[in-house]
Amino acid sequence: MNEIILKGIGAASGVAIGPAFLFGKEEFRISPHKISETSIALEIARFEDALIKTRHEILEIQKRIAEEMGTEHAEIFDAHLLVLEDRTLIEDVIVRIKKEKFCVEYIFSEVLKKYVSVFSRIEDEYLRERVSDINDVGKRILRNLLGEKKNIVVDVDAENLILVANDLAPSETASMYKKNIVAFVTDIGSRTSHTAIMAKSLEIPAVVGVEVATQKIINGDILIVDGKTGTVIINPEKETLDRYETAKLKINVQKERFVNLKELPAETKDNREVLIAANIELPEEIPSVIEHGARGIGLYRTEYFYMNRTDLPSEEEHYQAYRHVAQAVSPHHVVIRTLDLGGDKFLSQLHVPRDMHPFLGWRAIRFCLARPDIFKIQLRAILRASVHGQLKLMYPMISGIEELRQANNLLEECRNELRKEDIRFDDNLEVGAMIEVPSAAITADIIAKEADFFSIGTNDLIQYSLAVDRTNEKIAYLYEPAHPAVLKLIKNIIDAGHKSEIWVGICGEMSGDPELVLVLLGLGLDEFSMPPASVPLIKQLVRSVSYKDAKKIAEYALSLSTGKEVEEYSNQRLQELVPELLGENDASK
Ligand code: PEP
Ligand code: MG
Repeated sequence: MNEIILKGIGAASGVAIGPAFLFGKEEFRISPHKISETSIALEIARFEDALIKTRHEILEIQKRIAEEMGTEHAEIFDAHLLVLEDRTLIEDVIVRIKKEKFCVEYIFSEVLKKYVSVFSRIEDEYLRERVSDINDVGKRILRNLLGEKKNIVVDVDAENLILVANDLAPSETASMYKKNIVAFVTDIGSRTSHTAIMAKSLEIPAVVGVEVATQKIINGDILIVDGKTGTVIINPEKETLDRYETAKLKINVQKERFVNLKELPAETKDNREVLIAANIELPEEIPSVIEHGARGIGLYRTEYFYMNRTDLPSEEEHYQAYRHVAQAVSPHHVVIRTLDLGGDKFLSQLHVPRDMHPFLGWRAIRFCLARPDIFKIQLRAILRASVHGQLKLMYPMISGIEELRQANNLLEECRNELRKEDIRFDDNLEVGAMIEVPSAAITADIIAKEADFFSIGTNDLIQYSLAVDRTNEKIAYLYEPAHPAVLKLIKNIIDAGHKSEIWVGICGEMSGDPELVLVLLGLGLDEFSMPPASVPLIKQLVRSVSYKDAKKIAEYALSLSTGKEVEEYSNQRLQELVPELLGENDASK
C-alpha cells in the first residue's frame, strides 16, 4: 500500500504516530423491521432500557470528567441528561412504535431525524445549538439499542489514537483531556481556531484545515501527524516511519533539556530581561504553566466559564476561580481578560443573534458595554479577587479610547459599590487594553495615556489588518504574522506604549513562534504570553541571543517588503545564531 500525504495547517507542533480514529462518523444502518402486535411491549421495554443505560453512561462520564477536570466541564453533560428526560421525545417514540409497528431502532432514528431537522431550522440561537446535544445523546441511545460500543472517545482503549474529525467542538475537546488521544486532525479550522488552542494546551500535535481528512482516512489507518509542517501521512512506508520515529525521539530529548530552564529568567546575553508568561483557558492548566517555567499568566481567557451551561456564572463562581488562579501562580501575575464573546466564540445561554460578519459584529467589549448587567458581575469578581495575588485586568477588542473610557466607568461604578459594601479590593489593580484592532494599533499613543499596559492580540490583529478571516482555511495562506503591515502595527503599539511608560506584551499565538521571536524581542516587547508548552523553547532562544542583535534583526525585518522575506530572513538569522536549538524537530526532511 502506498503512503498518502495530506497537507493542512500545522496548528500545534510535535510529531505523533498511531492508528486513526474517526470521530462523529459512525453510521447506523437501520432497516425498518416490522414487528408483531405481541412484540410492542418488548420494544418499548428495550427503549426504556436503552434510556436507563445511556443515563448511567452519561453520569459515569460526568463523574470522571468532574474528578479529572473540575465540575464546570462536567456541566456540559447536564444538557445531555435533559434531552434524555424529554417527555415529548419519549412519548413520540412510544406512540409511533404502537401505531406503525416497526422496531424501536428504526422508529427512534426517524424521530431523532425529525427533531434534528426541526431544531436546525429554529431562529433562536440557544435552541438551535441544542441540535448537537440531541445528536450526541441520540447516537448514544442508538448505540445502546444496537448493542454497539459505548462512548467512542472516552472508552476506546487503544493507545496513541489520532483523532480525525470534520471539526471538534469545545465540549468534545474537553472530554478528551488527558485521554489516550495523541493528535488531532480536522477537515476545517485554522491556526488560531479552538481546536488549535486546545491541542496546544493538551500538548499534542494538531493539523487542521486538511479539508479531505475524513474522506481519505479510514478507521485504523496508521497515521503520522507532523504538527509543525501541517503534514498527515496515511499508512507510511517503513522508511518514512523510521524517520519520524527518530524525530519524535529528538523532540523528547529536547524537551528534557529544557527542564533545567524552569527556574531561570528569560534574559538575553546582554541582560535584557523579558517576561515569558502563559496563556490559559482553564484553571486546570495551571500545573502545566508552572511545570514549563512560565512567569505567570499573560492571558486568562474567561469565555470557558460561560460555555456549555444553561445559566450565567454568578459573581461568586467568578470570584472563586480568579482567586484560585491568583493564589496558584503567586507571586507572578495573572492577566484576566474580560468576556470575549462573539467572533468564533458563541455562548449558548446568551441569546445573541449571529451577525452577518461575526468577527466584525457585536462581540467582546462591544457586547459587554451593551450588557453592563452581565459585565459588571465579572468586573466585581475580578476586583474582589485582586486582594489575593497579582491580578491584572484587560479588555478585549478595544477599538478606540472611548471604549476604554466607558469600560473604566463601569469598573469605577463597581469599585464604588464595593466600597459601599465594605468589600476589599486592590486599589492599584492594573487595567490594560488588548490591542487587536487596527484602529487601536494606529491610535495606540492616545490609548496608552489612559491604560496601565497593552497586550497585543495578534490573532485578531492579523485578521483585521490583512482582511483575512482567521478561521477560514481557504485563505490561510494570506494569514501572515510576518507581513510588514503587521510588524509596523506592532512596532507602533510598542513605541506608543513605551512613550507613555507602560509595559507592552503580546498574547496572540505568534508570541510562541520560534521563527519570529527574535524580531519581536528586537521590537522591544516586555512580555510574551503563549501556550505553556511553548515557554521553554522561547525562553531558551531569548537566553541565547543578545538584545543588541535582536534589535538589528527587527530593524532589518522592518525594511523588507513581504512576509515571506521576513520569515526567510528571520529563519536564516536564527540558524546562524542558535543552530543547535532548531531544525531538530523538522522531520519532513
Ligand atoms: C488574539 O486575538 O490574539 C487573542 C489572544 O485573543 P483570542 O485568540 O482569544 O481572540
Ligand atoms: Mg482576540
